[in-house]
Amino acid sequence: MDQSAKLLTRPGLKVKLVGRNLDDLRPLLTPYPVKLLEPGDAETPELVICHGGDGSLLGAERDFPGIPKFAIRDRRNNPKCPQHDEQLLLQKLFSAKIDVHYLPKLTATTETDECLDGINDIVVSREVHLGAIRTRIRENGRILRHQVISDGVVFCTAFGSTGYFQSITRGNFQRGVGIAFSNSMDGDSFTVLPEDAALELELLRGPACVVADNNPRILHLADGARLKLLLTRQATPVFGLEAFRCQDCYLLRRNGV
Ligand SMILES: [Zn+2]
Repeated sequence: MDQSAKLLTRPGLKVKLVGRNLDDLRPLLTPYPVKLLEPGDAETPELVICHGGDGSLLGAERDFPGIPKFAIRDRRNNPKCPQHDEQLLLQKLFSAKIDVHYLPKLTATTETDECLDGINDIVVSREVHLGAIRTRIRENGRILRHQVISDGVVFCTAFGSTGYFQSITRGNFQRGVGIAFSNSMDGDSFTVLPEDAALELELLRGPACVVADNNPRILHLADGARLKLLLTRQATPVFGLEAFRCQDCYLLRRNGV
């Protein structure tokens, strides 16, 4: 059994529920000997159950960084394929017979040590819609792209590569860190680099803003600013991603069944 999965079978496991339509989920948890933490409860959870969509998982990682998570889609907004009935998934979870993935975070740090991190992506976008931004990208101190004119630059993890990165490139990847340029002038729109790449964006012409995942906090970059980007070694265990990202469930959602 995976080391982090061992906690799942322990009686009295402290569980925090986050996301939407939680009243639909609560009754399904009654057969299990867990301790549900209520709002205002000061105890630190040992497992956070994220009930909703991708945004619920992203927000939960922001609110409870590093704490193991179980990602499950809410049935009101997400029809399920026969393999991914909620009760079946909870049974697998609490008997530790469920998949676990370790999600690293991508961090962005400005020259004044302002910091943002995300498990999906960090996006640098033009702040003024009258013109594009010009960026230079360095990898481990060496220039990777001398100057790219685009609407924005997406830096993403492998997990996040099925999001904005994929909408630009029409593809995703399994390992490393990806860079994709939105509406780039030269048409060479993406690169995937090793996980340990130390990246730097230099804003040759801005202004630009920086966001991470669905975090409402925005950082601002002026002309000449530099932003450092790194994948963290510390990774959060997330259970249930196979079901969360099931293609059959996705098709039911997409086709509005
Ligand atoms: Zn499914």
